[in-house]
Amino acid sequence: MKISDVKFELKRYEYYETFHITGSSRNVAENIEVKVFLDDGTEGIGEASPSYRVNGEIISSLFSLESTVKEMIKGIDVRDYAKVFKIMDGLSKSAPSIKAAVQYATLDALSIEIGLPVYKIFGGSKDTIETDKTISIDTLERMVQKSIETFSQGFHTLKIKVGENLKEDMEKILAIFEATKGAEYVIDANQGYSPKEAIQFANFLYENKVNVKIFEQPIIWNDFEGLKFVREASPISIAADESVRTKYDAYRLIKDDCVDFINIKLMKSGISDALAIIEMAKTANVGLMIGCMSESSVGINQSVHIAAGTGAFAHCDLDSHMLIKEEKFRGKFVQKGSTINLL
Ligand code: MN
Repeated sequence: MKISDVKFELKRYEYYETFHITGSSRNVAENIEVKVFLDDGTEGIGEASPSYRVNGEIISSLFSLESTVKEMIKGIDVRDYAKVFKIMDGLSKSAPSIKAAVQYATLDALSIEIGLPVYKIFGGSKDTIETDKTISIDTLERMVQKSIETFSQGFHTLKIKVGENLKEDMEKILAIFEATKGAEYVIDANQGYSPKEAIQFANFLYENKVNVKIFEQPIIWNDFEGLKFVREASPISIAADESVRTKYDAYRLIKDDCVDFINIKLMKSGISDALAIIEMAKTANVGLMIGCMSESSVGINQSVHIAAGTGAFAHCDLDSHMLIKEEKFRGKFVQKGSTINLL
């Protein structure tokens, strides 16, 4: 069935609590819901959660793409979704979140047409995945309290935001570690440290036997040599997040041995580049995690289906829908605590 129309709609979601990471605090998420309509009225849905901080995306300029995208993909049969993927690849640099949403909405429409869930289209590797939950930057007391609460809700892996003050971060992590024995941690500095601070922090975590699976984006995104320097000196695994948006970034990071892990986000890469990065990382024996921006259940659904379908991720950080207020849950999956089951 052919694509007949494309519509963008602005959605605003409030966070339950201020989401504070290195250099950024937010209380509201502004997302763009994308619908792809087929000739018979079938509608596929996707969501863009744009990021100015990471992608340089601005909501108003993304909206101006609505009619252009419609003109470009109208008339394409969703069974030929690679054609839509290729056209949307042109938006890799300027509007990657829109690229992700249009690519997913196309797949969603195809999925409805053929009666096969999207994760099955991607191979159905798994029908269940586990996610972590994020503890954003706050006072030591509040971060410890939040960590205890989250761990007791069954989240085995806690994602802890750090990066604004090395000395305080060391105190916070030790306090959280003492209060949540048995938990595992993903530590995310969101580019906050210098390379030398990052190495100090990694050694500190290792010496104190803190069970850290991944230390994410310790330093500024564009310092690939610095990242390699940190990785070589660090006793714990280093991941790139802000440093890798397209498959070309991933290629450079892998070729130059800069990282142990890559954090794929559909909002940075769209689905086409995410799939390319998955294959590259698997081939090079580099680890993979999948993360999110501020997606609602509609956007998280996209990553859930890619993660389950490909089965490629050692770690899933798909929690933004739990941090924002939504009138109605709209994921095509069921979730109980940290466990996500596909339908
Ligand atoms: Mn990150």
